[in-house]
Amino acid sequence: MIERLQRALDRRTSATEYGECRQCGTTVDTDTARCPDCGSAEIASYTF
Ligand SMILES: [Zn+2]
Repeated sequence: MIERLQRALDRRTSATEYGECRQCGTTVDTDTARCPDCGSAEIASYTF
């Protein structure tokens, strides 16, 4: 029961990690170095 719950939480943690361009606000992958939309290297990463 507990093991199953932890697995669900682990999956949620990795799924809620994302990056966002500081210039235009486009959501990108966390491993993206540059925004594909405006070319800015200012990527903010969030983890919830
Ligand atoms: Zn951008």
